[in-house]
Amino acid sequence: MSTSPSVSLPGETMRRSFMRHRRPSATSELTSIVNKTRRKSNIASQNSPTKTKTKAIVTEIPTHSTMDSASKTPSGNQISNFGFAFDIDGVLMQKSTPIPGASECLRYLHDKEIPFILLTNGGGKTESARIQDLSEKLKVPLTLDNFVQAHTPFRTLEHLKGKTILVTGGDPIKCREISKSYGFKSVVIPGDLHVHHRSIWPFHYYPLDDAYRPEDYADDLPKPVREPGVDTEDTLKIDAIFVFNDPRDWALDIQIITDLLISRQGYLGTRSNKNGDKSLPNAGWQQDGQPQIYFSHQDLHWSTGYHMPRLGQGAFQGALCGVWDLMTKGKPLVKTTIGKPHAETYFYAERVIHHYRKLVLGEEGDRSNKLKRVWMVGDNTNSDIKGANDFSGKSSAQWPSMLVRTGVWHPERDGEPNPKPTAGIFDDVMHAVKYALEFETKELGKEGKDGWTDF
Ligand SMILES: [Mg+2]
Repeated sequence: MSTSPSVSLPGETMRRSFMRHRRPSATSELTSIVNKTRRKSNIASQNSPTKTKTKAIVTEIPTHSTMDSASKTPSGNQISNFGFAFDIDGVLMQKSTPIPGASECLRYLHDKEIPFILLTNGGGKTESARIQDLSEKLKVPLTLDNFVQAHTPFRTLEHLKGKTILVTGGDPIKCREISKSYGFKSVVIPGDLHVHHRSIWPFHYYPLDDAYRPEDYADDLPKPVREPGVDTEDTLKIDAIFVFNDPRDWALDIQIITDLLISRQGYLGTRSNKNGDKSLPNAGWQQDGQPQIYFSHQDLHWSTGYHMPRLGQGAFQGALCGVWDLMTKGKPLVKTTIGKPHAETYFYAERVIHHYRKLVLGEEGDRSNKLKRVWMVGDNTNSDIKGANDFSGKSSAQWPSMLVRTGVWHPERDGEPNPKPTAGIFDDVMHAVKYALEFETKELGKEGKDGWTDF
């Protein structure tokens, strides 16, 4: 088991549990993968309840019943002991347009110094570029201190920053740029390999050939791809594979990724003689120092401008696993997936919101007024809601989950949400925030303190 490297959040260095598990034993990884593959998509096919007004459906964490027991309704401003985590697509934004009420919500929280973070499984742009774009569209100042994309935690993988990595995603050139902004120095994308070795994926067709023009696309390879008869030590070795967001060229990417997963120690163009050796764990597959593969999330679907959910990175992951299953005669792909709903991302997010609280409230404000709740507002039951429901952080803060109707979950198509949001289903982010503020105001009222009644 590896030791924990340091974690760099904007403005400080922290330790985190994600890296503590960055390279688990083969047994624990396999157990994890088996368990993950048993988690089926929970998108139900039966009919669902008709749309209603804002409604809480679970009563364990903040509910209407506990709100009703409050003895006093305060007014005015107050230092908050709670915060919000907002998903973006389907909650704050629909494609590139703000969802009605989203700007007003963030503006109010910003003005009242109520900490919030944007916690998205999206990505494909640098955090600074995405923040600038969202700040302009949502008309509220956002910073690196309250923004977590799916691939943001990759910046903590210090042990790989001096190695050579393969990165793919929606726009591989941007994904290379992002990974370099995280400190990875030697980054190869599938297009580099395709440009320098057209035969690595021998099907030539538009737009692949047009997109992968060497003059404006590819970087030089750090070392040449191994060819027969060449000393392996002088050839390209990949030490880790990253899927930053939704790949476009699935076929090229799956070819190159599987080439690496069957290689000897990550040397592209080689094949491990341990593959298929039944005397070894996992029948010898991924037992010869091949690069570890990291996915930034596993969302099967996501919400866009189209009227039905579209396939996301989880679909690519499923396709790769399907090919791997055929290649290995049923052996599981050993992989690491972060992003919502995985706890690693919520640990990271909770650290970000603690850090952000200190910036907003000051050290004393944070110390004297411990964080009690982070309201997770999302549109995806399998990522936003499941992640918040399952999460048990290092602080005692609760993560009540709130499902909105403006995104990927649709009651008529998907049926009752599974898992259920602990705080309820809401028409949109505006109704969700209003509910949370009313709850927190009642809570403060019990202590004779003021709350937030002007939203
Ligand atoms: Mg979403």
